[in-house]
Amino acid sequence: MDTWNAIFNYLIDIVSFEKVIIFWILYFFVIWISIIVWVVRDITIRSDNVFMQIISILTVLLLTPFWIFLYLLIRPSKTLFEKYYSEVENNLDCLWDDIIVKIWENNFKSIHCSNCWEEIKEEFKYCPYCKFKIKPQVLIEEQEPKKKKGKKSPEESKETKKSKKKSKKEKRNKNKKDA
Ligand SMILES: [Zn+2]
Repeated sequence: MDTWNAIFNYLIDIVSFEKVIIFWILYFFVIWISIIVWVVRDITIRSDNVFMQIISILTVLLLTPFWIFLYLLIRPSKTLFEKYYSEVENNLDCLWDDIIVKIWENNFKSIHCSNCWEEIKEEFKYCPYCKFKIKPQVLIEEQEPKKKKGKKSPEESKETKKSKKKSKKEKRNKNKKDA
């Protein structure tokens, strides 16, 4: 009876040992396959570059599942959707900047001084360049046709030209002094 018992126990030991080994091998392969499936899905949403996709899949397919860490290092940090979303966000920001600029331009129109024709802000009362008093709402559109029609007498236009020259001279002198 002792010999039978010994043989029986010996058989149980062998079978259980083999079962454990088979279990771990199966476990290993299940993990490997699931990692490969995960990598295939992950790389296809992260990159549309076929070369990159093949390299990533081969990394975990040919080298054991433990090389998943290598894949995590080389994979693109953003998914294609995240990339697309950030691009849309950037474009929206640009659009918003344009809108702000347009609003600013519409609210604070720049006009030209009717004396020296330097660009100044609409709300200025005096021209900062020639100290000329700005008439309210003197826009370029309104001024240019007047000039062409020659409503101003030639003497006046000469005077404005002179004052232009004067202001330019003053500017130059100022610049020289500053230098
Ligand atoms: Zn001026």
